[in-house]
Amino acid sequence: MRNYNPRQRILVTGGAGFLGSHLIDRLLERGDEVVCADNLFTGTKRNIEHLLDHKHFEFIRHDVTFPLYVEVDQIYNLACPASPIHYQHDPVQTTKTSVHGAINMLGLAKRLRARIFQASTSEVYGDPSVHPQTEEYWGNVNTIGPRSCYDEGKRCAETLFFDYHRQHKLDIRVARIFNTYGPRMHPNDGRVVSNFIVQALKGEDITLYGDGQQTRSFCYVDDLIEGFIRFMDLPAGESGAPGFPGPINLGNPGEFTIRQLAEKVIDLTGSSSQLVFRPLPADDPMQRQPDITRAKQYLNNWHPQVHLEEGLRKTIAYFDQLLTDPS
Ligand code: NAD
Ligand code: UDP
Repeated sequence: MRNYNPRQRILVTGGAGFLGSHLIDRLLERGDEVVCADNLFTGTKRNIEHLLDHKHFEFIRHDVTFPLYVEVDQIYNLACPASPIHYQHDPVQTTKTSVHGAINMLGLAKRLRARIFQASTSEVYGDPSVHPQTEEYWGNVNTIGPRSCYDEGKRCAETLFFDYHRQHKLDIRVARIFNTYGPRMHPNDGRVVSNFIVQALKGEDITLYGDGQQTRSFCYVDDLIEGFIRFMDLPAGESGAPGFPGPINLGNPGEFTIRQLAEKVIDLTGSSSQLVFRPLPADDPMQRQPDITRAKQYLNNWHPQVHLEEGLRKTIAYFDQLLTDPS
């Protein structure tokens, strides 16, 4: 019967997290049914509580390192802690989440002949020697450092996705996501945008790691989710052959030093916080900027619309409200 229903039934792993919850909002808005599977390690029920009574939404508390048996038409595999402090908390579990999680979700997709999306990352490029990063670049990644559980786990997941694609003709979509921010990041997430905003709103010191001259390119969440959906909606090839598998970079090419970001946050919050300098964590990439030529070409000229200042204002408003009323 699945083929006769224009409404898609979609599994989102990691759906109670920052990106997953925004993705689910978009899918429900357009009329899909969503099954959200999450072990709530870094995600929270608060991100999905507005959906719990939605008749097309279902939450399953589940760890993707174990098999999952559900019937769906599409899978978005987002389950994995994304913040360095959280993925380094239990590095073995992080690798298992990426690798066993990918095997379990790919196995499910194979049984169902379902299209499957992988939330990969710019971390597959490591500390890049090519700038900006194109999808052809193979990366510069330490296999044995504190970030390796995440970077190598995600690289192995990409390998598994492409092997299932070649070996089992699975319709895969691999997106390499660059630093994305917005409402529903956890206040203790530890990533730079939420850290700086929370510190500024509380009037605490703003912690710059290293000299703050390392760069990142920050994408607002709505732009990213639009890219996910356009990519996943690309039709399959002729006679049902798998469509374009990627990998495809999704991110905002606007590049800023971490110090510039701190100054913008202070400016926009009107905070009296001071900048303080802390040691640079091991293997922290010095620069990062996506080349999005491929995304523009394949995703109907997709490119980010929200400038950093506008996105920061919305994110600041979210945290301001959250800190005022944490319930
Ligand atoms: P997040 O930490 O807010 O969300 C991750 C979600 O996965 C959480 O809800 C968490 O509870 C869940 N999870 C973790 N381990 C799990 C497991 N074993 N089983 C089931 N659920 C599990 O992070 P996010 O920013 O929303 O990231 C979502 C995905 O996008 C991740 O795969 C991440 O690697 C990827 N990504 C994000 C960014 C970014 O800038 N936000 C950049 C690159 C890649
Ligand atoms: N960073 C910082 N202060 C913080 C948190 C992060 O200076 O409180 C720096 C971090 O060292 C890195 C950049 O900001 O250079 C982005 O860090 P994040 O953890 O957000 O993501 P990633 O390093 O994975 O891109």
